[in-house]
Amino acid sequence: MTETYCNVALPVPLRTTFAYAVPECLREQVRPGSRVLVPFRKKALVGVVLELTATAPAGTKLRDVEKALDLIPALPANLLKLGEWIAGYYLAPIGEVFRAMLPPTTEVSRKRRMVLTETGREMAERLKSGTTLTDLDGSAAGFLQRLLKQNGELALGPASKLGITPDALQRLQHRGYVEIRESLQARKRKMQRVVAWNGTGRGGVEKDRAPAPAQRNSNTGEREKEERVRALLERERGPLPMPRLLKLANVSRALVERMLRQGWLESWEEPVDPVEDPFDSGYTPPGHTLNETQESAFKAIRARFELGEFGVQLLHGVTGSGKTEVYLRSVQDTLARGKTAIILVPEIALTLWVGRQCRAWFGARFEGVAVLHSALSDVERAQEWWRVRNGGARVVVGTRSAIFAPLENLGLVIVDEEQESSYKQEETPRYHGRDVAIMRAKFENALALLGSATPSLETYHNAVNGKYELLTMGSRVENRELAEVEIVDLRADFQQTQKASPISQALHAAIEECLSLKTQALVLINRRGYSWSVLCRSCGASVQCVNCSISMTYHKSRNRLECHYCGSIQAVPKVCPKCGSKYVYFFGEGSEHLEERLRQEFPGARIARLDRDTARTKQQYQETLGAFASGALDILVGTQMLAKGHDFQRVTLVGVIAADSSLHLPDFRAAERTFQLLTQVAGRAGRGELPGRVLIQTYYPEHYAVQDAVKQDYVSFYEREVHFRRMMAYPPFASLANVIVRDSRLEKAMEWSRELSGYFSPQDGKGVRILGPASAPLARLKKEHRYQFLLKSPKKAALTRILSRALAFCEAREIPQTAVLVDMDPLSLL
Ligand code: ADP
Ligand code: ZN
Ligand code: ZN
Repeated sequence: MTETYCNVALPVPLRTTFAYAVPECLREQVRPGSRVLVPFRKKALVGVVLELTATAPAGTKLRDVEKALDLIPALPANLLKLGEWIAGYYLAPIGEVFRAMLPPTTEVSRKRRMVLTETGREMAERLKSGTTLTDLDGSAAGFLQRLLKQNGELALGPASKLGITPDALQRLQHRGYVEIRESLQARKRKMQRVVAWNGTGRGGVEKDRAPAPAQRNSNTGEREKEERVRALLERERGPLPMPRLLKLANVSRALVERMLRQGWLESWEEPVDPVEDPFDSGYTPPGHTLNETQESAFKAIRARFELGEFGVQLLHGVTGSGKTEVYLRSVQDTLARGKTAIILVPEIALTLWVGRQCRAWFGARFEGVAVLHSALSDVERAQEWWRVRNGGARVVVGTRSAIFAPLENLGLVIVDEEQESSYKQEETPRYHGRDVAIMRAKFENALALLGSATPSLETYHNAVNGKYELLTMGSRVENRELAEVEIVDLRADFQQTQKASPISQALHAAIEECLSLKTQALVLINRRGYSWSVLCRSCGASVQCVNCSISMTYHKSRNRLECHYCGSIQAVPKVCPKCGSKYVYFFGEGSEHLEERLRQEFPGARIARLDRDTARTKQQYQETLGAFASGALDILVGTQMLAKGHDFQRVTLVGVIAADSSLHLPDFRAAERTFQLLTQVAGRAGRGELPGRVLIQTYYPEHYAVQDAVKQDYVSFYEREVHFRRMMAYPPFASLANVIVRDSRLEKAMEWSRELSGYFSPQDGKGVRILGPASAPLARLKKEHRYQFLLKSPKKAALTRILSRALAFCEAREIPQTAVLVDMDPLSLL
């Protein structure tokens, strides 16, 4: 039996795979997990082979695989299995799942061509032999003949360059005389010139050897330079790329060229190899000996390893308890057992920080830590990815998608700050990185270690139930105190001052004190922009986005209104767009406004703001954080970005402007989110020798999310919240799926949701509760109208079953696949 066909997952939004024939000459290279280039409609696409078969599906003539891209299959078997699980569980198109798992395709480049079809060729031949075709005008006829002369192919450019009007070109396409084809071409590997020391006679060049540099050259300056080159290359042992050599040795190209001619150096071309150390290699980690609490957590982790089987542990450690140290020891232990490890962190900036620590710990001894995140260029990401695949790195640090790192022999997956919403991908495939991490560990008999100061309700619930093992670190390192948290009741503040200021008297005084002590303050606000609503005092209308049902945010520095969902912009209105009244006013403070207020109230202070507007690039972000960490700033204002993970030693004050504004969102996780944010941000204070203080401003001091955050009492919060969840049958007591039906045409969105409702209604209550259709809380988003169904069930499998049938139903009814969006385990119901 020969396997001459293969099923390929292609990056198209369809829930199927596609069969192709494998030509004889590619049999060797086409294996499960290999990337292949295949024709799809009029395009060429890169897909991944899922399986090989001996028989073809009946009745169709299969097209051939065009090219195999990999020498070893890109995806090892365990990742193929994981991808199929993701597609099944999250009901995501399989090709899109694998697209998310594969490295960027940098081996090929896209080329589009205009080609003559068979009928087109016939026409062109007839024209050539003198026949006039009445249905073609002169320019079209001329164009066909020219194409014929060019062997029926032209590189695609603007119509004017092709010597034909766009209309005429379109007519030719309609008649099927010409078509646009896309092909992918192998891109040449980028080469670079490298230089190595040849002074020991390596390479056997029998040129007239010049005397050793030192004897020959009378010019001491030159001699020193030559000596620097020698010392550098000898220390390096291998070759260095030319530019790097010039830079490190600080010599001219002419000097190196001369040494080459004289035979002291040799040089050749090599493929560009990425792995220039992106990190500061001079960094040495503190390397603390573990304290007792850390030690006992680490012992439990090691004991779990001894079992050598799948397990999940939750490391619940208060902020500043030293979780990172425990992670690093666990990775070390994993490596010592000959296995590999992944560390997931919730944001890019943390990959750099954790990556650097890992490199310092493991880089030298174990060859290699790879860092994977979305801010790398395609080429960098592909190179890191292949380095991992080829066994060149055994530890991977990265954000969400690093869970797909092609490591083999995986022993440990760490998910730091497992509750973070950034682990959830909010576009297809809508997977949750933490949950995928647990599944991957399961498939590979590895240990999943989830860490957090404020675990998600689901995770803690599993720990309490004994499904996960709970490890607790209840105190900070060196017995540092948790910061003291106080509530500022904004109602009382207003009664006293009679004015609504974002900065209460108490917070003002605390910042003043902080400035006089020359320590640092963080001030957190949960919205960016200047004001998040523009209202009319006469008619009460607010300025809404033209594409979304949401108010526009005013950005003062850019002097315009912006939609934070779709990015559309509007001019700042002078009069109300609805009633024409002049009384428009700006309402609700954002970070930009707060920064302005702080500058007014503390004119001498050095202040910076950190949010998505000021930190547009990774570099800006790093610069601001770096300036703050080095003490060049007194006050840092910002959004959530401030709350995560940073370890600032001189922060003694954290102020939270409006703690409760997130409590009012129509979302069952509102309390959990608020509690987590407050606790996390409070954890930024008092991490060094200096004790910290946290002020939380709120209009709603009674709410348990605020109260428990003040006490930094996770367990108390968990118990109250879990009670609410049980009562309302929300996760973790039921699984949820959010189904959105959307279209830019309102009537289509309505029609399809009615059809889907017709399918769902008879099934409601049979193991699954089905709510809806209702207008989604964001009834319009990016020009699309949205209707929503919410499905609830105590059994996940029941949800998956009904949803996959519902999708088949939609397909049968020819409801476009992109119109129905399924979000399994949604984090947000907006
Ligand atoms: P967490 O992630 O739990 O909030 P970190 O891992 O950031 O805490 O650790 C907080 C600080 O404590 C870091 O500066 C770290 O270097 C330090 N640290 C960790 N372990 C120890 C220890 N055993 N003794 C002293 N300091 C420690
Ligand atoms: Zn008005
Ligand atoms: Zn919008």
